[in-house]
Amino acid sequence: MSQIQPAPGGRHRPSLHSLLLANRLATLGLIILLLTLLTALCAPLLPLADPDATNLLQRLLPPLSPGHLLGTDPLGRDVLSRLIWGTRVSLALGISATLLAALFGTVIGLLAGYIGGKTDSLLMRLIDMLMAFPYILLALAIVAVLGPGLLNALYAIALVNIPFFARNIRGLTVGLRQRDFVQAARLSGKNHLQTLLGEVLPNLMPVIVVTMSTTIGWMILETAGLSFLGLGTQPPDADLGSMLGQGRAQMFSAPHVALVPGLMIFLLVMSFNLLGDGIRDLLDPRLRAGVLQRAQPVTSLSRQSIPAASGDALLEVVDLSVSFRAGNQLQQAVKGISFHLQRGECLGLIGESGSGKSVTALSLMGLLASPPGEISGGAVYVDGEEMLSLPAIELQHRRGARVAYIFQDPLTTLHPQMRIGTQITEALQAHQPLSGREARQKALALLEDVGIHESRERFHAWPHQLSGGQRQRVGIAMALANDPQIIIADEPTTALDVTVQARMLELLQKLRRERGMTLLFITHDFGVIAQICDRVAVMRQGEIVESGDTQTVLSQPQHPYTQRLIASVPRPGQGREFLAQVAALYPAITSQESQ
Ligand code: ADP
Ligand code: MG
Repeated sequence: MSQIQPAPGGRHRPSLHSLLLANRLATLGLIILLLTLLTALCAPLLPLADPDATNLLQRLLPPLSPGHLLGTDPLGRDVLSRLIWGTRVSLALGISATLLAALFGTVIGLLAGYIGGKTDSLLMRLIDMLMAFPYILLALAIVAVLGPGLLNALYAIALVNIPFFARNIRGLTVGLRQRDFVQAARLSGKNHLQTLLGEVLPNLMPVIVVTMSTTIGWMILETAGLSFLGLGTQPPDADLGSMLGQGRAQMFSAPHVALVPGLMIFLLVMSFNLLGDGIRDLLDPRLRAGVLQRAQPVTSLSRQSIPAASGDALLEVVDLSVSFRAGNQLQQAVKGISFHLQRGECLGLIGESGSGKSVTALSLMGLLASPPGEISGGAVYVDGEEMLSLPAIELQHRRGARVAYIFQDPLTTLHPQMRIGTQITEALQAHQPLSGREARQKALALLEDVGIHESRERFHAWPHQLSGGQRQRVGIAMALANDPQIIIADEPTTALDVTVQARMLELLQKLRRERGMTLLFITHDFGVIAQICDRVAVMRQGEIVESGDTQTVLSQPQHPYTQRLIASVPRPGQGREFLAQVAALYPAITSQESQ
């Protein structure tokens, strides 16, 4: 997909295995597993005693006895030898059971999710039936029917784990089936089997691998459990579970007989789980970027000094730098920008997508997610107060009350399961000690203010019942709720069509006139800036390349990038000339930039 872009500057993305090795616990798991696997595989080649040779004269020797490093069991068999051979059996059982469960679970999940309808219901009810029995009881019942033995234990464990895979895979397949790339494959003439194998399955692979790696430890534990109960491997063969079972009687007189296989099970399960977690983090790019790590209430700061404010503007941003941390690399998204906003003024921050506008907007009130974001330099003054050095709780009081936000996509900013009235009252009550009644009155007035008529009926509407324009009006109402000094609007009209956009700009203009609102307006569209902003700052690749009075910048753009932005606003009746004009600017820009 296009989201994965190579890092700039030709740096290599770290390879997957180097990332895995960077995770110390996963590496530890991997090393233990490799050693165990190697030993188990080499068992026939190692100079070991016969694991089944009994010698009643040497019963229950303690560990470190001559010739028996880990001692002997009640029949005088060498514990070390039995441990290695037993581990071999346990590993083979666990891995085979996982593969079987994954195979059948995936096939069932894929079919149920892809075909849907009756097939789906039938398969899922069968799976539900399997899930309705207590886990180990079902395995016991299956072994009871099939008879005790190694293979039967394997089947039982595989069977009871099928639902785990099937449910997961089915859910994901249902989601994937609707996606455009699957539809496109169907349209291109691929049949169902080709679509399933070529389009759906590859997208499920990471999930299958992760589920396998995280369940394999559990399966080893379960097979050991069955063997412990005497239903798995039968004497004289042994796996870790049956060794544990045999050691039970000597728990106090010769604890090593049970302890040794017990420790081995612990080691195996732990190392499989550590490795499994490592693999999961690796395959999920969001986890890799640390999305689920300690989300901080305020963007973290790594600035060396706090630059002073130079004037008495309502908002002053001095030398702000923001970076994103990926592993131990820091990538700068905003590179030391400064701008200010006078009381009642509208400043337009303009730049193409990816130029760092949203990152700037979020950083002002410490809203940028950390990790991965961090503010690496600069200061933000609101009414003379430095925002970024405030303690988290103080900053929280300022958000929404002093500085409020309007975001681009109102559908994603409104809570889909709360009525809009409730959301506005919630915003009000977060900062003002209002009774329910008062808050409701205020919310109704706000709805009217932003041009939502019949506010009493609309008050109880769900976000999905409103049009895009109405939702954005609700977003504006929420931003206005606490009479903030500054409103930061991050592309508030980009998701709307042109006519609705025009009405939204009118509304913002009207509110500015009536309330003397101070507005930081972020957009990529010079047409919009020309309509409502007094001054403009042009942003490009994290820097402000030009700023000034809107009229001046519009009529005499200095920087070639600004010229290009202005040229890309079409005027009615321009026709082909427009494209020629945009194209003509490109060579000029590239040649100037390469200097
Ligand atoms: P825009 O000007 O379109 O609002 P942004 O401010 O969202 O652009 O992004 C600016 C830069 O920061 C982009 O190059 C983007 O790749 C980078 N960026 C934004 N969010 C993240 C993130 N969570 N992790 C890493 N980089 C990010
Ligand atoms: Mg943006």
